Amino acid sequence: MVWTSAYRDPFALPNPGTVTKDARLSRVQEDRTLAAMRHGSIPGARGRVRPLTLLGDPVLRAPCREVTAFGPELAALVEDLFATMYAARGVGLAANQVGEPLRVFVYDCPDDEDVRHVGHLVNPRLVTADGVVVRGPEGCLSLPGLEAGTERYDHAVVEGFTAAGEPVTVHGTGFFARCLQHECDHLAGRLYPDHLTGWRHRRLRRQASKAPWAHRP
Ligand SMILES: [Zn+2]
Repeated sequence: MVWTSAYRDPFALPNPGTVTKDARLSRVQEDRTLAAMRHGSIPGARGRVRPLTLLGDPVLRAPCREVTAFGPELAALVEDLFATMYAARGVGLAANQVGEPLRVFVYDCPDDEDVRHVGHLVNPRLVTADGVVVRGPEGCLSLPGLEAGTERYDHAVVEGFTAAGEPVTVHGTGFFARCLQHECDHLAGRLYPDHLTGWRHRRLRRQASKAPWAHRP
């Protein structure tokens, strides 16, 4: 998933003409990030940025396979997913979005209280999606530059495993719950336009067919 109009991109550069308190704070944060990267503790620091698969690629429409080998190849895939997600300024990325049809996704996503959630899930299962249904802008790195008001539950619980095979349960609310539902959809071969109806669906199809990255027969 990607930043949408409703959410401020925290990686956006401050206006170079002014030095605001925010700009100084972001500089401090950047220094800390670089220091942490030197110690290899930032997810994706050892990963490779891979090309993204785009709408029209069959790998996005096929259900992904369960992971059965929790070895170094899986750890490397998680690193590549983080590196690719950060390079594309996404907040979530599924393995089939880099062409690997495996049930794995990564995220670095805030919720509506601006709490940051960073992690990865292997063989995830959406065990709960409930609460209020909210229609909010949603975008995807496989449909670059587009977004549409999409209905999602505002609470989600996902169970899965880490790349080391440890069981984990992830709870999400608000924008992060949206992200968890979006990424679980990817692993089932679904994309957010599948949730749209009526004029929203027609408009997105039209925009996607005219996009510079569109697959044309
Ligand atoms: Zn997506």
